[in-house]
Amino acid sequence: MSNLVKITSIEPITHDVYRIRAEKPDGIEYRPGQAVDISLNKEGWNDEIRTFTFTSIPSDDFIEFTIKTYPGHNGVTNQIRSLKAGDEIYLYDIYGDIEYKGEGVFIAGGAGITPFIAILKKLEKENQIGNNKLIFANKSKADIIDASKFDKLLGSQFINVLSDENIPGFEHGFITPEIIKKHSSDLNQYFYLCGPPPMMDAVLKHLASLGVKEENIVKEGF
Ligand SMILES: Cc1cc2nc3c(=O)[nH]c(=O)nc-3n(C[C@H](O)[C@H](O)[C@H](O)COP(=O)(O)OP(=O)(O)OC[C@H]3O[C@@H](n4cnc5c(N)ncnc54)[C@H](O)[C@@H]3O)c2cc1C
Repeated sequence: MSNLVKITSIEPITHDVYRIRAEKPDGIEYRPGQAVDISLNKEGWNDEIRTFTFTSIPSDDFIEFTIKTYPGHNGVTNQIRSLKAGDEIYLYDIYGDIEYKGEGVFIAGGAGITPFIAILKKLEKENQIGNNKLIFANKSKADIIDASKFDKLLGSQFINVLSDENIPGFEHGFITPEIIKKHSSDLNQYFYLCGPPPMMDAVLKHLASLGVKEENIVKEGF
């Protein structure tokens, strides 16, 4: 079963990431952190189904997605770059393994930030940001999604790690066990992890080497 909904706005928020808002279908139910299968109502693309995470929260009167596009590659995300308000998308199944279980450290790589955008938005709305931390890995400063929002929301609890740039105030390189340890006050709390598979594999090894219990890890690979 699918829902056909109209896009109400679409705008670039970095050099390759777009934020799309669309009409909220009646009766839709999702948890912050969950994703939905989508296709574009566009000739030749209707059957190309891809998965994107809601970056809206259930109480919003719209649905929102934050989508990293791959302009050099003739896939769905490249088509998204030419969508405009009034165009339509199909929504199919909703699913996802990430949900908020309690205070902890969010570790994201690139577009893997999207489930945490929704979770942190809900926590902000409920005044429950508390001691949650965000470690966000990107190639360069220009790739950081919602940098100023997270700066404002999390202050020193927002840690950026840049692999391709060495900038004061930012960690440089890939995420290491040392970086995780330095920014985790307690290794017995929850660790939320989302990003591309190679980053996930590396960080899962780091968490194991630090003695983080498997049951405290909440994860999803993109
Ligand atoms: C549960 C879940 C939730 C997700 N949520 C989000 C989200 O909220 N936001 C988001 O941005 N992404 C999200 N993703 C990832 C997203 O689904 C993919 O980026 C998207 O499907 C890519 O579609 P595509 O048709 O453009 O690329 P595809 O054709 O499906 O190619 C897949 C990947 O291969 C790579 N690739 C293949 N060929 C080339 C090429 N020639 N040049 C460059 N790259 C190439 C790209 O990295 C691309 O991501 C999520 C994935 C999962 C599993």
